[in-house]
Amino acid sequence: MSVSKFIKKMMFSRQLNFKKGEFEMLGIRGAVIPVRTFTHIIESVYRKQGDDAFNILFETGKEHGKLGVEKLGKKHSVSKRKFLEEIIESGNVMGMGKAEIKSFNPQEGLLRVNLKNSPFEEEFRRSKELNDINRSIDEFQRGVFHSMAEAVFDSEVQSREDKCSFQGDMHCEFIFKEVD
Ligand SMILES: [Zn+2]
Repeated sequence: MSVSKFIKKMMFSRQLNFKKGEFEMLGIRGAVIPVRTFTHIIESVYRKQGDDAFNILFETGKEHGKLGVEKLGKKHSVSKRKFLEEIIESGNVMGMGKAEIKSFNPQEGLLRVNLKNSPFEEEFRRSKELNDINRSIDEFQRGVFHSMAEAVFDSEVQSREDKCSFQGDMHCEFIFKEVD
C-alpha cells in the first residue's frame, strides 16, 4: 500500500484526525517535533549519559512499537505479513524513514527490515557532538520494529541494526531473531 493510500484509508476510517491544536492517530494524541529538535534531545541525553542515550532511544522505540501493535493489532485481524506491512506503513507515514520488509520467515523466526532515508542520519552529521559516533544510530526504529517482531513471533526476540547508512552503508538493515 502506498503512503497516500494508507493516509486516505486512515482518514476515511477516522483513525487520523486533525483539528486546531490537535493531531490524533489511532486514537493517540501526537505532536510533530522536527527531527532537529528530537536530535537536540538526544544530544542532551548523550552529554549526560553517554552511550546510554542509545539504550533510552531503543527502550522508547519499544514502547512506541507496543502502542502501535496494540492499536493496529486490535483493529485488524489480518495475516502476520499484512500486520507487519501495516505497522511499517504507519511508521513511514510518521516520517521515520522508508522502511520495508526485506524478508520474513515465520518458520525460522527471522525478520529483516530495510530502512532508507533515516531522518536521523543528516541531523547526526550536523551535530558537533554526535557526528563522530562510531556506531549504528537508528535505535528508536530498532525498538519499534523489535516490539513489532515480538508481537508477530509471539516470543522474545534478539535484534540488531546490521547495516547503518550513518556508518556508510547504502541503507540501514535490521535483523530480528526469535529467541527459543
Ligand atoms: Zn541506521
